[in-house]
Amino acid sequence: MTAVKVHGGIDILRLPVNQEEHVFHPWHIKYTQSHILHSKCSKSENGCGNKDSDACQFCIFSHTLELPHMPDMVFPNNILTLKHQDGAFIQFNALDALKTVSNGKINVQLACAEAWKESRSESSEYLEEKVKPFDWTFTTTYTGTISNFEIQETNERIDVDKLKRREKILFYHDLTLFEDELHDNGIAVCSVKIRVMPSSFFILLRYFLRIDGVMLRINDTRLYHEFGQDYILREYTSREAKVGEIRAPPSLFVEPSEIASYLPLTRCHYHKLIMMLNKTESITNDELTNEIVTDNEATSANICETNSFVT
Ligand SMILES: [Zn+2]
Repeated sequence: MTAVKVHGGIDILRLPVNQEEHVFHPWHIKYTQSHILHSKCSKSENGCGNKDSDACQFCIFSHTLELPHMPDMVFPNNILTLKHQDGAFIQFNALDALKTVSNGKINVQLACAEAWKESRSESSEYLEEKVKPFDWTFTTTYTGTISNFEIQETNERIDVDKLKRREKILFYHDLTLFEDELHDNGIAVCSVKIRVMPSSFFILLRYFLRIDGVMLRINDTRLYHEFGQDYILREYTSREAKVGEIRAPPSLFVEPSEIASYLPLTRCHYHKLIMMLNKTESITNDELTNEIVTDNEATSANICETNSFVT
């Protein structure tokens, strides 16, 4: 294996993968955490083959996503996994999160698009449009990778009051999946955090975008499970606003949890993930469904309740 040297000569391929696993019967909760994705193939000058079963992580990401540019920092080993003893499986990982980024179209109309484009194009390829358009904000509608669940729409909501109640936290962790500083024009970051209490667990997967002077966007997925029940509640919300329309002090623009309540809701989905008994002993990647959320416009406050600011 050819070592890739970056960050002051540290061999990132040799850095250990940090991991922890906890059993909260009947759930196994595990995270792994390690270095960022390399900036080039770590195996060969020509890159790993498309069908190379032993391809390096860089090539797996490149071949799968085909994005003209990857975020500044991608954490391929930052993975949170929950497995139920009867087969239900939930995972949060960067590759699946980036799969929902629009490739081939840009979904943000910017007041400062031209200025931004220039700042982005230290190589002139953007101006010459040699690079196919893609969503350089890396906006993702990822809600997690799940298997062995039946998904139903629901009117049941996460009990926010219950979550706010002081309860002992048995386990807490947060992981960044990817991050990009938009060439110093703001930030796009996708992260996931989990906390496990004696009665339940709660997960927040958050994509946060701030384009300085232009707009903010927050796509949140919340999962809540009360131990003993056979389902998980999953709420997805998307909020965004132009900076000029946000009635909040700009100091809050760097605090996603603080600013969220000032951003109007644009989309939401409420689902019940009902656990199914496992059909097979082992779960392979092929069986995992990486769900893509369909666009339900949030047209009514009655449909999209705005009370879930638990973080
Ligand atoms: Zn490779």
